[in-house]
Amino acid sequence: MEQINYEEIKTLENGSKLVGDLEFPKRKVWVKTYGCQMNYHDTERILSHLEPLNFSLTSRQEEADLLLFNTCAIRDLANQKFYSHLGNTKHQKKQKEVKVAAGGCIAQTESKELLKKYPQLDFAFGTDVVDNIGEMVYRAYAGDKKFAVTSWDRADNYSIQTKITHGSPQAFVNIIKGCDKFCSYCIVPFTRGREKSRSVAEIVNDVARLVQYQGIQEVTLLGQNVNSFGKKNGESLAQLIMELEKITGLEIIRYTTSHPYDISDELIEVHGKSKKLANHLHLPVQSGSNTVLQRMLRQYSIEHYLERLDALRKANPHIVLSTDIIAGFPNETQQEHEATLELLDKAQYDFIYSYNYSARKGTKASRMRDILTKEIRGRRLREIQAHQLKIQEKVRASMVGKTYRVLVEGKGTMKGEVKWKGRTNCFRIVHFRPETLDQDYLWHWVDLKITSATALSCQGEIIRDYGKRVTPIQ
Ligand code: SF4
Repeated sequence: MEQINYEEIKTLENGSKLVGDLEFPKRKVWVKTYGCQMNYHDTERILSHLEPLNFSLTSRQEEADLLLFNTCAIRDLANQKFYSHLGNTKHQKKQKEVKVAAGGCIAQTESKELLKKYPQLDFAFGTDVVDNIGEMVYRAYAGDKKFAVTSWDRADNYSIQTKITHGSPQAFVNIIKGCDKFCSYCIVPFTRGREKSRSVAEIVNDVARLVQYQGIQEVTLLGQNVNSFGKKNGESLAQLIMELEKITGLEIIRYTTSHPYDISDELIEVHGKSKKLANHLHLPVQSGSNTVLQRMLRQYSIEHYLERLDALRKANPHIVLSTDIIAGFPNETQQEHEATLELLDKAQYDFIYSYNYSARKGTKASRMRDILTKEIRGRRLREIQAHQLKIQEKVRASMVGKTYRVLVEGKGTMKGEVKWKGRTNCFRIVHFRPETLDQDYLWHWVDLKITSATALSCQGEIIRDYGKRVTPIQ
Protein backbone atom coordinates (compact mmCIF):
# COMPACT_ATOMS: atom_id res chain seq x y z
CA MET A 1 0.00 0.00 0.00
CA GLU A 2 1.39 3.41 -1.02
CA GLN A 3 -0.51 5.65 1.38
CA ILE A 4 -3.59 5.01 3.51
CA ASN A 5 -6.64 7.03 2.64
CA TYR A 6 -8.25 7.29 6.07
CA GLU A 7 -11.55 8.46 4.61
CA GLU A 8 -11.91 5.22 2.66
CA ILE A 9 -11.57 2.94 5.70
CA LYS A 10 -14.81 0.94 6.16
CA THR A 11 -16.17 -0.51 9.40
CA LEU A 12 -17.36 -4.11 8.91
CA GLU A 13 -20.28 -5.76 10.73
CA ASN A 14 -17.88 -7.75 12.95
CA GLY A 15 -16.30 -4.49 14.19
CA SER A 16 -13.17 -4.87 12.06
CA LYS A 17 -11.89 -2.08 9.84
CA LEU A 18 -11.23 -2.70 6.18
CA VAL A 19 -8.08 -0.86 5.15
CA GLY A 20 -7.38 -1.38 1.45
CA ASP A 21 -7.83 -5.13 1.11
CA LEU A 22 -6.70 -5.96 4.66
CA GLU A 23 -9.00 -6.55 7.63
CA PHE A 24 -7.95 -4.97 10.92
CA PRO A 25 -9.78 -6.49 13.92
CA LYS A 26 -9.82 -4.63 17.26
CA ARG A 27 -6.26 -4.65 18.61
CA LYS A 28 -4.32 -3.08 21.47
CA VAL A 29 -1.16 -1.01 21.19
CA TRP A 30 1.32 -0.43 24.02
CA VAL A 31 3.83 2.42 23.70
CA LYS A 32 6.98 3.22 25.67
CA THR A 33 8.26 6.76 25.14
CA TYR A 34 11.71 7.97 26.20
CA GLY A 35 13.22 11.47 26.16
CA CYS A 36 11.97 14.93 25.42
CA GLN A 37 8.60 16.67 24.91
CA MET A 38 9.07 16.28 21.16
CA ASN A 39 9.07 12.49 21.55
CA TYR A 40 5.95 12.54 23.76
CA HIS A 41 4.26 14.72 21.17
CA ASP A 42 5.31 12.28 18.38
CA THR A 43 3.77 9.45 20.42
CA GLU A 44 0.45 11.29 20.54
CA ARG A 45 0.56 11.68 16.78
CA ILE A 46 1.40 8.00 16.34
CA LEU A 47 -1.61 7.03 18.46
CA SER A 48 -3.89 9.32 16.49
CA HIS A 49 -2.87 7.50 13.26
CA LEU A 50 -3.41 4.06 14.76
CA GLU A 51 -6.91 4.73 16.07
CA PRO A 52 -8.52 4.51 12.56
CA LEU A 53 -6.72 1.15 12.13
CA ASN A 54 -8.73 -0.18 15.11
CA PHE A 55 -5.96 0.10 17.72
CA SER A 56 -6.70 1.28 21.26
CA LEU A 57 -4.03 2.16 23.79
CA THR A 58 -3.24 -0.15 26.68
CA SER A 59 -0.91 0.44 29.61
CA ARG A 60 -0.53 -3.35 30.05
CA GLN A 61 2.28 -4.60 27.88
CA GLU A 62 1.23 -8.22 28.24
CA GLU A 63 -2.20 -7.68 26.61
CA ALA A 64 -0.87 -5.69 23.62
CA ASP A 65 -0.86 -6.87 20.00
CA LEU A 66 1.57 -4.16 18.93
CA LEU A 67 4.53 -2.96 21.02
CA LEU A 68 6.02 0.40 20.06
CA PHE A 69 9.17 2.03 21.42
CA ASN A 70 9.73 5.75 20.82
CA THR A 71 13.42 6.14 21.60
CA CYS A 72 15.78 8.95 22.63
CA ALA A 73 19.44 9.24 21.63
CA ILE A 74 20.29 12.16 23.89
CA ARG A 75 20.58 10.50 27.30
CA ASP A 76 22.68 7.42 27.98
CA LEU A 77 20.35 6.15 30.68
CA ALA A 78 17.32 6.24 28.36
CA ASN A 79 19.35 4.34 25.71
CA GLN A 80 20.29 1.56 28.11
CA LYS A 81 16.70 1.23 29.39
CA PHE A 82 15.42 0.94 25.83
CA TYR A 83 17.89 -1.79 24.78
CA SER A 84 17.10 -3.82 27.88
CA HIS A 85 13.31 -3.41 27.51
CA LEU A 86 13.44 -4.29 23.81
CA GLY A 87 15.56 -7.35 24.61
CA ASN A 88 12.87 -8.61 26.99
CA THR A 89 10.12 -8.49 24.35
CA LYS A 90 11.43 -11.72 22.79
CA HIS A 91 9.73 -13.67 25.63
CA GLN A 92 6.36 -12.05 24.86
CA LYS A 93 6.80 -12.76 21.16
CA LYS A 94 7.31 -16.46 21.92
CA GLN A 95 4.03 -16.61 23.86
CA LYS A 96 1.67 -14.77 21.49
CA GLU A 97 1.32 -13.15 18.08
CA VAL A 98 2.69 -9.67 18.68
CA LYS A 99 4.37 -7.11 16.43
CA VAL A 100 7.29 -5.11 17.78
CA ALA A 101 8.51 -1.80 16.34
CA ALA A 102 11.08 0.83 17.36
CA GLY A 103 10.90 4.47 16.34
CA GLY A 104 12.48 7.77 17.38
CA CYS A 105 16.04 9.04 17.46
CA ILE A 106 17.92 5.74 17.99
CA ALA A 107 15.88 4.03 15.28
CA GLN A 108 16.62 6.94 12.92
CA THR A 109 20.38 6.37 13.10
CA GLU A 110 20.65 2.66 14.00
CA SER A 111 17.63 1.00 12.33
CA LYS A 112 19.66 -1.62 10.40
CA GLU A 113 21.75 -2.59 13.45
CA LEU A 114 18.61 -2.83 15.61
CA LEU A 115 16.82 -5.09 13.12
CA LYS A 116 19.89 -7.33 12.90
CA LYS A 117 20.53 -7.52 16.63
CA TYR A 118 16.92 -8.02 17.81
CA PRO A 119 15.15 -10.77 15.81
CA GLN A 120 11.84 -9.96 17.54
CA LEU A 121 11.79 -6.47 15.96
CA ASP A 122 9.37 -6.34 13.00
CA PHE A 123 10.21 -2.86 11.81
CA ALA A 124 12.10 0.32 12.70
CA PHE A 125 11.17 3.87 11.77
CA GLY A 126 12.79 7.29 12.07
CA THR A 127 11.60 10.60 13.46
CA ASP A 128 10.78 11.98 10.03
CA VAL A 129 8.13 9.38 9.30
CA VAL A 130 5.96 9.21 12.44
CA ASP A 131 3.00 10.46 10.40
CA ASN A 132 3.39 7.41 8.14
CA ILE A 133 3.08 4.89 10.96
CA GLY A 134 -0.27 3.73 9.55
CA GLU A 135 1.38 2.59 6.29
CA MET A 136 4.15 0.80 8.22
CA VAL A 137 1.70 -1.03 10.47
CA TYR A 138 -0.26 -2.01 7.36
CA ARG A 139 2.93 -3.42 5.79
CA ALA A 140 3.73 -5.38 8.95
CA TYR A 141 0.25 -6.96 9.08
CA ALA A 142 0.38 -7.60 5.33
CA GLY A 143 3.37 -9.87 6.03
CA ASP A 144 6.34 -7.60 5.36
CA LYS A 145 9.15 -8.38 7.79
CA LYS A 146 12.24 -6.65 9.16
CA PHE A 147 11.93 -3.37 7.29
CA ALA A 148 13.20 0.09 8.14
CA VAL A 149 11.70 3.43 7.09
CA THR A 150 13.72 6.50 7.98
CA SER A 151 12.72 8.95 5.28
CA TRP A 152 9.52 9.38 3.36
CA ASP A 153 9.84 11.06 0.00
CA ARG A 154 6.39 12.67 0.22
CA ALA A 155 7.34 14.49 3.42
CA ASP A 156 8.94 17.53 1.74
CA ASN A 157 6.16 19.83 2.85
CA TYR A 158 5.74 19.59 6.54
CA SER A 159 2.05 19.48 7.24
CA ILE A 160 0.21 17.76 10.09
CA GLN A 161 -2.91 18.08 12.19
CA THR A 162 -2.40 17.97 15.96
CA LYS A 163 -4.34 15.16 17.60
CA ILE A 164 -4.96 15.17 21.34
CA THR A 165 -5.38 11.92 23.20
CA HIS A 166 -5.47 13.38 26.75
CA GLY A 167 -8.17 15.37 28.56
CA SER A 168 -6.15 18.39 29.76
CA PRO A 169 -6.58 21.95 28.44
CA GLN A 170 -2.85 22.12 27.64
CA ALA A 171 -1.49 20.98 24.27
CA PHE A 172 1.87 20.77 22.56
CA VAL A 173 1.73 21.87 18.94
CA ASN A 174 4.66 21.04 16.71
CA ILE A 175 5.57 23.99 14.47
CA ILE A 176 9.05 23.10 13.19
CA LYS A 177 11.09 19.93 13.10
CA GLY A 178 14.78 19.28 12.64
CA CYS A 179 17.67 21.65 13.27
CA ASP A 180 20.27 23.35 11.05
CA LYS A 181 22.55 24.46 13.85
CA PHE A 182 24.92 21.49 14.38
CA CYS A 183 26.13 22.36 17.89
CA SER A 184 29.24 20.25 18.42
CA TYR A 185 27.80 18.14 21.28
CA CYS A 186 24.33 17.49 19.85
CA ILE A 187 23.00 14.53 17.90
CA VAL A 188 19.65 16.13 16.98
CA PRO A 189 20.53 17.36 13.45
CA PHE A 190 21.57 13.76 12.63
CA THR A 191 18.45 12.16 14.10
CA ARG A 192 15.79 14.73 13.24
CA GLY A 193 17.22 16.11 9.98
CA ARG A 194 17.12 19.63 8.56
CA GLU A 195 14.62 22.30 9.64
CA LYS A 196 11.14 22.10 8.13
CA SER A 197 8.37 24.45 9.27
CA ARG A 198 4.62 24.22 9.00
CA SER A 199 2.82 27.25 7.61
CA VAL A 200 1.34 29.96 9.87
CA ALA A 201 -2.09 29.46 8.29
CA GLU A 202 -2.10 25.73 8.99
CA ILE A 203 -1.01 26.15 12.63
CA VAL A 204 -3.59 28.87 13.29
CA ASN A 205 -6.38 26.63 11.92
CA ASP A 206 -5.03 23.69 13.93
CA VAL A 207 -4.97 25.65 17.22
CA ALA A 208 -8.39 27.26 16.59
CA ARG A 209 -9.83 23.76 16.12
CA LEU A 210 -8.16 22.50 19.32
CA VAL A 211 -9.62 25.44 21.27
CA GLN A 212 -13.08 25.17 19.75
CA TYR A 213 -13.58 21.41 19.83
CA GLN A 214 -11.14 19.99 22.36
CA GLY A 215 -11.19 22.62 25.11
CA ILE A 216 -7.52 23.58 24.77
CA GLN A 217 -6.65 26.83 26.58
CA GLU A 218 -2.86 26.74 26.66
CA VAL A 219 -0.53 25.80 23.80
CA THR A 220 3.20 25.22 23.78
CA LEU A 221 4.66 25.69 20.32
CA LEU A 222 7.25 22.99 19.93
CA GLY A 223 10.42 22.45 17.94
CA GLN A 224 14.16 21.91 18.33
CA ASN A 225 14.78 25.55 17.45
CA VAL A 226 11.46 27.37 17.30
CA ASN A 227 13.19 30.72 16.70
CA SER A 228 14.06 29.49 13.21
CA PHE A 229 10.39 28.86 12.49
CA GLY A 230 9.25 29.99 9.04
CA LYS A 231 12.64 31.33 7.91
CA LYS A 232 12.62 29.28 4.73
CA ASN A 233 9.02 30.36 3.88
CA GLY A 234 9.31 34.09 4.68
CA GLU A 235 7.29 33.68 7.92
CA SER A 236 8.31 34.09 11.57
CA LEU A 237 7.53 32.97 15.11
CA ALA A 238 6.62 36.56 16.01
CA GLN A 239 4.05 36.63 13.21
CA LEU A 240 2.64 33.25 14.28
CA ILE A 241 2.22 34.35 17.92
CA MET A 242 0.36 37.53 16.92
CA GLU A 243 -2.00 35.46 14.73
CA LEU A 244 -2.64 32.93 17.53
CA GLU A 245 -3.29 35.83 19.89
CA LYS A 246 -6.55 36.49 18.00
CA ILE A 247 -8.08 33.09 18.92
CA THR A 248 -10.83 33.58 21.51
CA GLY A 249 -10.63 31.05 24.32
CA LEU A 250 -6.88 30.54 23.98
CA GLU A 251 -5.35 31.92 27.18
CA ILE A 252 -1.62 31.17 27.18
CA ILE A 253 0.95 30.73 24.41
CA ARG A 254 4.38 29.28 25.22
CA TYR A 255 7.22 28.19 22.97
CA THR A 256 10.24 25.95 23.37
CA THR A 257 13.13 25.35 22.64
CA SER A 258 14.88 28.59 21.73
CA HIS A 259 18.33 29.30 20.34
CA PRO A 260 19.77 32.65 21.52
CA TYR A 261 21.28 33.40 18.09
CA ASP A 262 17.83 33.47 16.51
CA ILE A 263 15.94 35.59 19.07
CA SER A 264 15.01 38.50 16.79
CA ASP A 265 14.11 42.08 17.67
CA GLU A 266 10.67 41.38 16.18
CA LEU A 267 10.14 38.47 18.61
CA ILE A 268 11.34 40.51 21.60
CA GLU A 269 8.85 43.22 20.64
CA VAL A 270 6.09 40.57 20.69
CA HIS A 271 7.09 39.68 24.27
CA GLY A 272 6.21 43.29 25.09
CA LYS A 273 2.94 43.59 23.23
CA SER A 274 1.30 40.13 23.24
CA LYS A 275 -1.31 39.64 25.96
CA LYS A 276 -1.26 35.84 25.67
CA LEU A 277 2.43 35.06 25.35
CA ALA A 278 3.60 33.65 28.70
CA ASN A 279 5.75 35.73 31.03
CA HIS A 280 8.45 33.08 30.81
CA LEU A 281 11.23 32.22 28.41
CA HIS A 282 13.62 29.28 28.57
CA LEU A 283 16.74 30.42 26.72
CA PRO A 284 19.50 27.76 26.83
CA VAL A 285 22.95 29.36 27.22
CA GLN A 286 24.94 26.14 27.93
CA SER A 287 28.09 27.96 29.20
CA GLY A 288 29.13 31.39 30.47
CA SER A 289 32.47 31.25 28.66
CA ASN A 290 32.95 32.59 25.14
CA THR A 291 35.75 30.12 24.42
CA VAL A 292 33.57 27.16 25.46
CA LEU A 293 30.68 28.54 23.39
CA GLN A 294 33.05 28.64 20.40
CA ARG A 295 34.00 24.98 20.94
CA MET A 296 30.31 24.16 21.24
CA LEU A 297 29.69 25.96 17.90
CA ARG A 298 26.85 27.90 19.50
CA GLN A 299 27.23 30.95 17.19
CA TYR A 300 26.71 33.66 19.87
CA SER A 301 28.83 35.37 22.50
CA ILE A 302 27.94 35.92 26.14
CA GLU A 303 27.76 39.66 25.43
CA HIS A 304 25.14 39.05 22.72
CA TYR A 305 23.23 36.67 25.00
CA LEU A 306 23.13 39.14 27.91
CA GLU A 307 22.06 41.93 25.56
CA ARG A 308 19.09 39.75 24.44
CA LEU A 309 18.12 39.14 28.11
CA ASP A 310 18.23 42.90 28.78
CA ALA A 311 16.08 43.61 25.74
CA LEU A 312 13.55 40.95 26.80
CA ARG A 313 13.34 42.40 30.30
CA LYS A 314 12.87 45.90 28.90
CA ALA A 315 10.10 44.68 26.59
CA ASN A 316 8.35 42.75 29.37
CA PRO A 317 9.45 43.65 32.93
CA HIS A 318 7.48 40.65 34.30
CA ILE A 319 9.34 38.06 32.24
CA VAL A 320 10.89 35.16 34.13
CA LEU A 321 13.96 33.52 32.57
CA SER A 322 15.47 30.06 32.80
CA THR A 323 18.27 28.21 31.03
CA ASP A 324 20.24 25.00 30.39
CA ILE A 325 23.88 24.59 31.45
CA ILE A 326 26.35 21.86 30.48
CA ALA A 327 29.00 21.39 33.19
CA GLY A 328 32.46 20.17 32.17
CA PHE A 329 32.43 20.49 28.38
CA PRO A 330 35.63 18.82 27.02
CA ASN A 331 38.77 20.54 28.31
CA GLU A 332 36.84 23.26 30.14
CA THR A 333 39.35 25.19 32.30
CA GLN A 334 38.71 26.37 35.84
CA GLN A 335 38.52 29.92 34.48
CA GLU A 336 35.91 28.90 31.90
CA HIS A 337 33.89 27.16 34.61
CA GLU A 338 34.02 30.30 36.78
CA ALA A 339 32.70 32.34 33.84
CA THR A 340 29.53 30.22 34.05
CA LEU A 341 29.15 31.06 37.76
CA GLU A 342 29.54 34.75 36.88
CA LEU A 343 26.92 34.43 34.18
CA LEU A 344 24.44 33.03 36.71
CA ASP A 345 24.99 36.17 38.84
CA LYS A 346 24.39 38.43 35.85
CA ALA A 347 21.40 36.60 34.37
CA GLN A 348 19.47 36.00 37.64
CA TYR A 349 17.57 32.98 36.31
CA ASP A 350 14.45 31.69 38.00
CA PHE A 351 15.67 28.11 37.51
CA ILE A 352 18.20 26.16 35.48
CA TYR A 353 18.45 22.66 34.09
CA SER A 354 22.08 21.60 34.50
CA TYR A 355 23.83 18.43 33.35
CA ASN A 356 27.29 16.94 33.24
CA TYR A 357 28.65 16.77 29.72
CA SER A 358 28.43 13.28 28.23
CA ALA A 359 29.66 12.43 24.74
CA ARG A 360 27.16 11.46 22.03
CA LYS A 361 28.58 9.15 19.39
CA GLY A 362 28.85 10.77 15.96
CA THR A 363 29.16 14.37 17.22
CA LYS A 364 32.21 16.63 16.82
CA ALA A 365 32.63 16.99 20.59
CA SER A 366 32.83 13.20 21.01
CA ARG A 367 36.00 13.25 18.88
CA MET A 368 37.68 15.97 21.01
CA ARG A 369 40.62 14.92 23.17
CA ASP A 370 39.39 15.49 26.71
CA ILE A 371 41.42 15.78 29.91
CA LEU A 372 38.53 16.33 32.35
CA THR A 373 37.76 13.57 34.83
CA LYS A 374 34.36 12.43 36.08
CA GLU A 375 35.21 13.89 39.51
CA ILE A 376 36.01 17.36 38.11
CA ARG A 377 32.77 17.35 36.12
CA GLY A 378 30.74 16.24 39.15
CA ARG A 379 32.30 18.91 41.40
CA ARG A 380 31.67 21.66 38.84
CA LEU A 381 28.05 20.60 38.39
CA ARG A 382 27.50 20.69 42.17
CA GLU A 383 29.09 24.17 42.34
CA ILE A 384 26.83 25.45 39.55
CA GLN A 385 23.72 24.04 41.24
CA ALA A 386 24.62 25.37 44.70
CA HIS A 387 25.39 28.81 43.23
CA GLN A 388 22.07 28.90 41.37
CA LEU A 389 20.10 27.84 44.45
CA LYS A 390 21.32 30.92 46.34
CA ILE A 391 20.24 33.14 43.44
CA GLN A 392 16.94 31.32 43.13
CA GLU A 393 16.20 31.79 46.83
CA LYS A 394 16.41 35.58 46.40
CA VAL A 395 14.56 35.66 43.06
CA ARG A 396 11.68 33.58 44.45
CA ALA A 397 11.47 35.54 47.74
CA SER A 398 10.24 38.51 45.70
CA MET A 399 7.06 36.55 44.91
CA VAL A 400 5.77 36.64 48.51
CA GLY A 401 2.65 38.78 48.94
CA LYS A 402 1.95 38.93 45.18
CA THR A 403 -1.06 37.32 43.50
CA TYR A 404 -0.69 34.96 40.53
CA ARG A 405 -3.29 33.33 38.30
CA VAL A 406 -2.66 29.60 38.23
CA LEU A 407 -4.02 26.67 36.26
CA VAL A 408 -4.51 23.74 38.68
CA GLU A 409 -2.50 20.79 37.33
CA GLY A 410 -2.75 18.10 40.00
CA LYS A 411 -2.38 17.25 43.65
CA GLY A 412 0.25 15.57 45.73
CA THR A 413 1.24 14.89 49.32
CA MET A 414 3.70 17.24 51.01
CA LYS A 415 4.91 16.30 54.49
CA GLY A 416 1.81 14.15 54.96
CA GLU A 417 -0.61 16.88 53.81
CA VAL A 418 -2.54 16.69 50.53
CA LYS A 419 -2.15 19.86 48.47
CA TRP A 420 -3.14 20.99 45.00
CA LYS A 421 -0.47 22.35 42.70
CA GLY A 422 -0.75 24.73 39.81
CA ARG A 423 1.51 26.52 37.38
CA THR A 424 1.69 30.29 37.04
CA ASN A 425 1.77 32.01 33.67
CA CYS A 426 5.52 32.52 34.39
CA PHE A 427 5.99 28.75 34.80
CA ARG A 428 6.42 28.54 38.56
CA ILE A 429 4.73 25.72 40.46
CA VAL A 430 2.69 26.86 43.52
CA HIS A 431 1.21 24.48 46.12
CA PHE A 432 -1.91 25.35 48.06
CA ARG A 433 -4.34 23.81 50.55
CA PRO A 434 -7.51 22.48 48.98
CA GLU A 435 -10.99 23.81 49.54
CA THR A 436 -12.02 20.50 48.05
CA LEU A 437 -10.24 17.27 47.16
CA ASP A 438 -12.80 16.56 44.44
CA GLN A 439 -10.94 15.53 41.26
CA ASP A 440 -13.23 17.88 39.30
CA TYR A 441 -11.16 20.74 40.76
CA LEU A 442 -8.41 19.77 38.32
CA TRP A 443 -7.88 22.39 35.56
CA HIS A 444 -9.64 25.18 37.47
CA TRP A 445 -8.16 28.64 37.10
CA VAL A 446 -7.49 30.23 40.49
CA ASP A 447 -5.84 33.38 41.82
CA LEU A 448 -3.32 32.51 44.52
CA LYS A 449 -1.59 34.87 46.94
CA ILE A 450 1.95 33.65 47.64
CA THR A 451 2.47 33.11 51.37
CA SER A 452 5.99 31.67 51.30
CA ALA A 453 8.65 30.96 48.70
CA THR A 454 11.99 29.19 48.92
CA ALA A 455 14.43 28.25 46.17
CA LEU A 456 12.55 25.05 45.48
CA SER A 457 8.93 25.49 46.53
CA CYS A 458 6.19 28.11 46.66
CA GLN A 459 3.08 28.03 48.82
CA GLY A 460 -0.06 30.07 48.26
CA GLU A 461 -3.63 30.61 49.41
CA ILE A 462 -6.73 30.89 47.24
CA ILE A 463 -8.07 34.37 46.57
CA ARG A 464 -10.50 33.52 43.77
CA ASP A 465 -11.71 30.46 41.89
CA TYR A 466 -12.81 31.05 38.26
CA GLY A 467 -13.83 27.49 37.45
CA LYS A 468 -12.64 25.82 34.27
CA ARG A 469 -12.61 28.91 32.05
CA VAL A 470 -11.58 32.50 32.57
CA THR A 471 -12.81 33.54 29.13
CA PRO A 472 -16.06 32.08 27.81
CA ILE A 473 -15.60 30.48 24.41
CA GLN A 474 -17.73 31.96 21.61
S1 SF4 B 1 20.30 24.19 18.42
FE1 SF4 B 1 19.65 22.64 19.91
S2 SF4 B 1 18.86 20.94 18.66
FE2 SF4 B 1 20.05 22.25 17.28
S3 SF4 B 1 22.11 21.35 17.25
FE3 SF4 B 1 22.12 22.94 18.85
S4 SF4 B 1 21.58 21.90 20.78
FE4 SF4 B 1 21.04 20.52 19.05
